[in-house]
Amino acid sequence: MAFDLTYLGHSAFEIKTHKQSILIDPFLQASRKYDYRDSDITDIFITHGHSDHIGSAIDIAINKRATITAIFELANYCTQKGTKTRGVNFGAWLDYEWGRALFVPAFHSSSSPDGVYLGEPAGVILEVNGVRIYHAGDTALFSDMKFIRRLYSPDIVMLPVGGVYTMDIEHAAIAAKWLKATITIPMHYNTFDAINVDISRFDMLLQTINLNCQIMEPDEVLNF
Ligand code: ZN
Repeated sequence: MAFDLTYLGHSAFEIKTHKQSILIDPFLQASRKYDYRDSDITDIFITHGHSDHIGSAIDIAINKRATITAIFELANYCTQKGTKTRGVNFGAWLDYEWGRALFVPAFHSSSSPDGVYLGEPAGVILEVNGVRIYHAGDTALFSDMKFIRRLYSPDIVMLPVGGVYTMDIEHAAIAAKWLKATITIPMHYNTFDAINVDISRFDMLLQTINLNCQIMEPDEVLNF
């Protein structure tokens, strides 16, 4: 086993290697059984400052002595809340014990729950045991996704599909087509009324272009 990928609902994922665990956007409201105390979390990635993405990151980081990696302004915000942080920006591979990571732009906004500007919103690409995972964060469709494909060839992509605040299903299907990952996982839908969708439509659209859509229930695990 190279790693386990668990969907924790909304845009939250855990990637577990044989040694450690990595969280992305740990807003855990939709998970019924996840208990972070059972995981050896060393790193938490946050794509932007909105509360449904910071989620429980600060509590978890403090309790597990994990490091939060985020765009500089958001990282500083977390430092002020008492966490270990790694403040970064777009465009460079960042080395970790388990692999490496890279922040890429997202078309969205980023502020704290109390309204403080928290830098640019981001997506993040993780490379774990040679597998590249692109978590797009909250974003509109943008043409540089074609370059993300060309430069980084992600194997697994997580795309927001709920609309209103991010891409809707139609736009996410175009993103999936551009990114051509082996596995496309929809996220950021059905958590609240405003982003309720019929997710089978996304599956249907991807089937018509021969892409593998992996709809995951909260707490579902995939093994790689
Ligand atoms: Zn957001």
